[in-house]
Amino acid sequence: MSKNIEWGKLGFAYMKTDFRYVSRWKDGSWDEGKLVEDNNLTISESSTALHYGQQCFEGLKAYRTKDGKIQLFRPDENAKRLINSCTRVMMPEVPVEKFIDACKQVVKANEDFVPPYGSGATLYLRPFVIGVGDNLGVKPAPEYIFCVFCVPVGPYFKGGMAPVNFITSDFDRAAPYGTGAAKVGGNYAGSLYPHQLAVKKGFADCIYLDPMTHTKIEEVGAANFFGITKNDKFVTPKSPSILPSITKYSLMHIAKEYLEMEVEERDVLVDHLDEFKEAGACGTAAVITPIGGIQHKDKFHVFHSEKEVGPVTKKLYNTLYGIQFGDVEAPEGWIVEV
Ligand SMILES: *Cc1c(COP(=O)(O)O)cnc(C)c1O
Repeated sequence: MSKNIEWGKLGFAYMKTDFRYVSRWKDGSWDEGKLVEDNNLTISESSTALHYGQQCFEGLKAYRTKDGKIQLFRPDENAKRLINSCTRVMMPEVPVEKFIDACKQVVKANEDFVPPYGSGATLYLRPFVIGVGDNLGVKPAPEYIFCVFCVPVGPYFKGGMAPVNFITSDFDRAAPYGTGAAKVGGNYAGSLYPHQLAVKKGFADCIYLDPMTHTKIEEVGAANFFGITKNDKFVTPKSPSILPSITKYSLMHIAKEYLEMEVEERDVLVDHLDEFKEAGACGTAAVITPIGGIQHKDKFHVFHSEKEVGPVTKKLYNTLYGIQFGDVEAPEGWIVEV
């Protein structure tokens, strides 16, 4: 059954699809969970998710392969990260099997919304957990909802990958032992204003530096940073306040095992960007956003080019994209068929 969607025109915008999965936690356990058609949640006005930010979320995609099958990319990693996020804000864990089962159910029930192979479009899944139920004081909620909905989304770059420019922010995204490593909503509310400032100055987004010294790169908007050194090393920052990107860890594996590059997780000094010949931001949404240049104070540093994507970035992108759509052989356990 066709949904009359113009796959080529899809961006990253909400669209109501047919079914979503909802499971409720009460008195110490999750219920079975079920698919529902209603895309509205009715919750107590006093829910901790609304007042104290007790919530977290995930983002992953379902991909249509050349032979028409549908597959998920490393959903177990998203499940584990959701558990870490839940633990950090004192919410009950969603077991890995329950998480993967919920994602599969949602994809199957909305199969007509999975874009065709070759369109570059995918079905984006948004799992989340919120604290609900009547409550007033600052404490964990008495009840929780785990929900997964999905939306077909277009490729991040229409007309092909192109470099974009970024500017460092004077604001911090997260404190060193705060909630930066958890995918919790509060981190994103705080990023809206610095993002808007960067956009007003003509940049795609801002780069967050380490909160303690403001000398090291931490994150590029809501994506992780990587650089390719002049002797072909894949380098990415190491810090307890970075959100561990599954795309980043996948690229590290690809760099090492597929492209035979050395890989380093270490400090990346914003005053030493000269060590890199290419740089990029990575995350599920775009896979890789090549970085043209970075504005820091009164200096604008250009990497490979402001117009062209560097060769190593292209290779990394093509390999990961190929694995996700089933055209390149994946490391064991990375692909889960729906
Ligand atoms: C989700 C997210 C990323 C990217 O993670 P992926 O697992 O690669 O999608 C990076 N940084 C932040 C702050 C994020 O929220």
